[in-house]
Amino acid sequence: MTRRIFNTNIFFSYIYSAIGKNVLLFSSTENLTYIGIEKPILMGENYLLLPEAFEAFEKMKMAAEKDGLRLWGTSGYRSFESQKTIWNEKYKKLKLQFPSYSEIDIINCIIEFTAIPGTSRHHWGTDIDIVDAFGYKNENPLTNENFSEKGEYQYLNYWLSKNAESFGFCLVYTENPDRTGFKFEPWHYTYFPLSKEILHKICNYSFEDIKEMKTVLGNELFSKSYFESYKSNYLFGINHFLIS
Ligand SMILES: [Zn+2]
Repeated sequence: MTRRIFNTNIFFSYIYSAIGKNVLLFSSTENLTYIGIEKPILMGENYLLLPEAFEAFEKMKMAAEKDGLRLWGTSGYRSFESQKTIWNEKYKKLKLQFPSYSEIDIINCIIEFTAIPGTSRHHWGTDIDIVDAFGYKNENPLTNENFSEKGEYQYLNYWLSKNAESFGFCLVYTENPDRTGFKFEPWHYTYFPLSKEILHKICNYSFEDIKEMKTVLGNELFSKSYFESYKSNYLFGINHFLIS
């Protein structure tokens, strides 16, 4: 959705609320929420989720505990600002490390695992990176090796693949070789009863119009056409179940 449409919505929101129909007021706030600018109502301490997703995660956590696992989120909700910090740090590091890389080379490296600020599913409060707190010793627990057959999260991986769906959670970035976009992330789960709907709403956004995008390194390349292809390859390069 373009900035112009945001403003139009705000204008209509005012008119509607003045006559007692605040439906549009709600949806214009919603728009800014999905891109991480406005903070939604969240639950949790160390990791934050929308209340419905948090409660579902707590239920899954209790069931997992009975099977000897302590589910823990290394990252739940993230604002535009926190995603920007991650993005800009990676950008600066890569630029130093590979001086011959062009802007697009650097961006292509970052988007192997990290979403452009404003486009991250972590803005929605529905997605969470899960580890087992009993085995959480590593500085960087989110590696494919840890979740592989010989890794310390082997059992966690198995347990989630068998049980997560019954609590409303599923893997987003699967190992399917036909999938485009972000690389395989065996730790990133989404609460699909809410996130399937959000994806449908967010796909009409014109991310290039987000004014805060100007503070994101490499943003000169984020044209309308760049985002069109990014949307189809990355936002929709996910577990097919989530777009069905
Ligand atoms: Zn994640």
